[in-house]
Amino acid sequence: MSDRIRLGLRVEGVVQGVGFRPFVYSLATGLGLAGLVGNDVDGVFAEVEGDAEAVSKFLMLLKPQAPPLATIEHVSTRRLAPTGAAGFVIAPSLPGGQRQRRTLVPADSATCADCLRELADPANRRYRYPFINCTNCGPRFTIVRDVPYDRPLTTMSGFVLCAACATEYHDPADRRFHAQPVCCPDCGPALVLTSADGTVLASRPDADPVAAAAGLLRSGAVLAVKGLGGYHLVVHAGNEAAAAALRARKHREDKPFALMVPDLATARLLCEADETADRLLASPRRPIVLLLRRPAADGLVAAAVAPGNRQLGLMLPYTPLHHLLLEAVASPVVATSGNVSDEPIAYTDTEALQRLARIADAFLVHDRAIHIRTDDSVVRASGGRESVVRRSRGYVPEALAVSPDLPRPVLACGAELKNTFCLAEGSRAVVSHHIGDLENAETLRSFTDGIEHFRRLLDITPELVAHDLHPEYLSTKYAAGLAGVDLLGVQHHHAHIASCLADNGAAGPVIGVAFDGTGYGTDETIWGGEFLIADLAGFERAGWLAPVPMPGGTAAIRQPWRMAAAYLAAAFPGRLPAELAVRERNEGRWAAVLAMAQRGVNAPLTSSAGRLFDAVAALLGVRDVINYEGQAAIELEQLADPAEPGRYPAAIAEAPPQDPTGIGPAAGQRPASGPALLVSGSDLVRAAAEDLSAGVPAQVIAARFHRGMADTIVTVCRQLRDRTGLGVVALSGGVFQNLLLTDQVVSGLAANGFGVLLHSQVPCNDGGISLGQAVIAGARDREAR
Ligand SMILES: [Zn+2]
Ligand SMILES: [Zn+2]
Repeated sequence: MSDRIRLGLRVEGVVQGVGFRPFVYSLATGLGLAGLVGNDVDGVFAEVEGDAEAVSKFLMLLKPQAPPLATIEHVSTRRLAPTGAAGFVIAPSLPGGQRQRRTLVPADSATCADCLRELADPANRRYRYPFINCTNCGPRFTIVRDVPYDRPLTTMSGFVLCAACATEYHDPADRRFHAQPVCCPDCGPALVLTSADGTVLASRPDADPVAAAAGLLRSGAVLAVKGLGGYHLVVHAGNEAAAAALRARKHREDKPFALMVPDLATARLLCEADETADRLLASPRRPIVLLLRRPAADGLVAAAVAPGNRQLGLMLPYTPLHHLLLEAVASPVVATSGNVSDEPIAYTDTEALQRLARIADAFLVHDRAIHIRTDDSVVRASGGRESVVRRSRGYVPEALAVSPDLPRPVLACGAELKNTFCLAEGSRAVVSHHIGDLENAETLRSFTDGIEHFRRLLDITPELVAHDLHPEYLSTKYAAGLAGVDLLGVQHHHAHIASCLADNGAAGPVIGVAFDGTGYGTDETIWGGEFLIADLAGFERAGWLAPVPMPGGTAAIRQPWRMAAAYLAAAFPGRLPAELAVRERNEGRWAAVLAMAQRGVNAPLTSSAGRLFDAVAALLGVRDVINYEGQAAIELEQLADPAEPGRYPAAIAEAPPQDPTGIGPAAGQRPASGPALLVSGSDLVRAAAEDLSAGVPAQVIAARFHRGMADTIVTVCRQLRDRTGLGVVALSGGVFQNLLLTDQVVSGLAANGFGVLLHSQVPCNDGGISLGQAVIAGARDREAR
């Protein structure tokens, strides 16, 4: 016993509420070690004592064998004097007092295999209980009201544990040891099916609400179902009338509905799913996965589910209630956010009854409150590559690592559309759940309440607040109203590139290609087709799409045919082609809109790549008016024939000298270090219009436009590399959700010897902006010191 040692350990990360203490207990006792383990505000503390070999084995196994939901960020150790005491105990949690809380609340996690087995076992006391969970699965972030993560501070606080549940909860050897949401039919939440006016239609023990709900779905009803982060509206996926009714009542014209499917086999039947897709579908995060639909889907999925779309968004059940419901319906169901058109998803019972009563025929609800509204996450899988489109339930509030460390705590307020905010401190950045478009009071409240909630959970008091340059954004106004903080304006596309850098653990400088719909520029034009030389602290605007007018301002975003008129005017100065279907379709207002574009009246200039895609989509007759953001571009991508090798050229010229108007050093814009490049988007439009007049099929034109765009991006990057010597390109902005374009740009850049940075952890769309703002704020803060 000469080499007996005692080691004190501190473990930081996601280590509470995930079964970490029982894991340490069994690992230590299995190795014959004595000591203790407990929770405090910093995470988990432990002391282990035994012979040196066993202690080092303990340290070696701590990370690789940790429970599935745990994330160990940091382990520190120190030598202690051996006490000679035998046995291993779980110590009571230490209160935090005024000390900083460093422990993290876990994300919500899909029902685990052990719980599913019990759910289906008639001998188990939780047989068919819709709220079964354990330390390895269940609700977390959505039920936490405050930290430390303990039952009294969750929405389970009102449910008093029965004797059987209490025994499990207190037994270190049990899978439910300190599982905060643990419950059973005797002591936990109960499910009930009601009509839209609140009348109970089915409840235990008289009737099974799940069976009754499934019956309603099969007969074509629209059901509101209370899920993990909010209400879903659910219909039978194969019922054309039900899907159409849901669309009409939700005022949602074309935007695809997501589907929940019973299992992976059904997912593979409906869609092309490779290994990456399978892994994403079955992961404990359970996102909606966007996949190419297979012909077999036609017979099983109503046309109204995803009209004119070659993709379907699929997810697997992620709560016990979903599992029971899908099993009872025995078919895919539509499971879309419980809201009316652009409102945020309903998550409280009163709100759901008020807002959804005119949409849903019946409500499948329960009495476990959702503390924070959290939408389903959305990911894409293509060619083994995974990209997050909407990062929310199952991902949030997981921290992202940033480096170097931020000098001061930062709040980044994000963008206007697809808003997220970000709280960051030290080496850790936490990007919020999806807030939505900050355009109404309801969403704004979600934003401000969300920031307060995260500040409490993370115990971060921001000293530096980053915001967009747009003075009219609600997020900008919110930042301006904060007292006692330093404000920092960040240009939108710089934030995109910085977000991509942070997503890759990189700091630049790089050539950044930021292509999206709209962003406030520093020269009084609307930017969106930008080539930047950027690092985290600043950027140089090195190239952009030649600006064109947006006739009617924001009306041109909703009506892509207006952009077609503007681009055609630029492509054919003085003499538009005689026969243009887009003009014929919009004859009534064509002349007026064309005049607006030509005279520059009520027509702000934009270099937006999104508007160029819109123009081509309208020109080809894909879509003159959109019903949701990005619709025309999405449909243009789907129209393009990927096998078509042709491409259109676009001229790249030297831009006139820039005059960044006085937004000042806050914008981080650096003076030009060489001639900037101006890309002629109207060249692409002219070639497309000429092909159209010559009778070339729209599928071919769409493909040639994509390849032309990709070639042009690669050429601009080559010219910028020649000038600057930079060999790495970061691609960001919502346009890169277009996988056809992205694949062509990536292979073109790779063939030319570039390193390419793409997003993986946060969206390339505006949902990723807040992370970029946060790291920019940190970098400027560092420079200023
Ligand atoms: Zn479980
Ligand atoms: Zn119980």
